[in-house]
Amino acid sequence: MRVLIIEDDLDIATNLYDHLELRGHQVDLARDGLSGLHLAVSEKFDVIVLDLGLPGLGGLSLCSKLRQEVCSDVPVLVLTARDLLDDKLKAFDCGADDYLVKPFALREVEARLNALVRRHSGRVSDRRIIVDDLVYDPASLTVQFEGRPVQLSRKCLRLLETLLSGPNRVFSRADLEHSAWGEEQPVSDSLRSHMHMLRRALTGSSGFSPIENVHGVGYRFAKRSA
Ligand code: CA
Repeated sequence: MRVLIIEDDLDIATNLYDHLELRGHQVDLARDGLSGLHLAVSEKFDVIVLDLGLPGLGGLSLCSKLRQEVCSDVPVLVLTARDLLDDKLKAFDCGADDYLVKPFALREVEARLNALVRRHSGRVSDRRIIVDDLVYDPASLTVQFEGRPVQLSRKCLRLLETLLSGPNRVFSRADLEHSAWGEEQPVSDSLRSHMHMLRRALTGSSGFSPIENVHGVGYRFAKRSA
């Protein structure tokens, strides 16, 4: 599995890194919160080992950002010297999946990481994406908006899926065209007409639609609470 370790203590980080690498895992290491978050967002990991006391961005804030701002559901194991119940509860509140107090046995860390990845991979196919009033189920390709089912064409679904991969993020026309049409060139204005259909299908009773055209740039799925 691919593991990201976010840990500023060099001894602990090196021990973990060496152990996991020896066991055949692909490991990356970040020594502070910001570079950890950056790595977690820009690359794909199966699981993250997260220290709480980190320079720059602390582990709890990092975990919240990962869950709320980036909507990542990568499993997170918190590894920390903080052993109070309150600390543990806070970590779970922030979206951690498991918690282990230092000092720890390397084999236990690995066993827990394996368990997290196993549970997570079983869930992936039935994972629903929920943003505000929208529920998208990638397994059945169904969409609900404001509690009612919405029929969308296959291309509109692909466009929606792309937009939902980063709520509030603006996707360029080229990115969106590529996600729906692949290598084949869409006829001119196809994107615009599909986005128009998507927007019409996802317009609420109040007239609000989360599908936004960002002039001269592309489109985004706007979250009500930014
Ligand atoms: Ca630390």
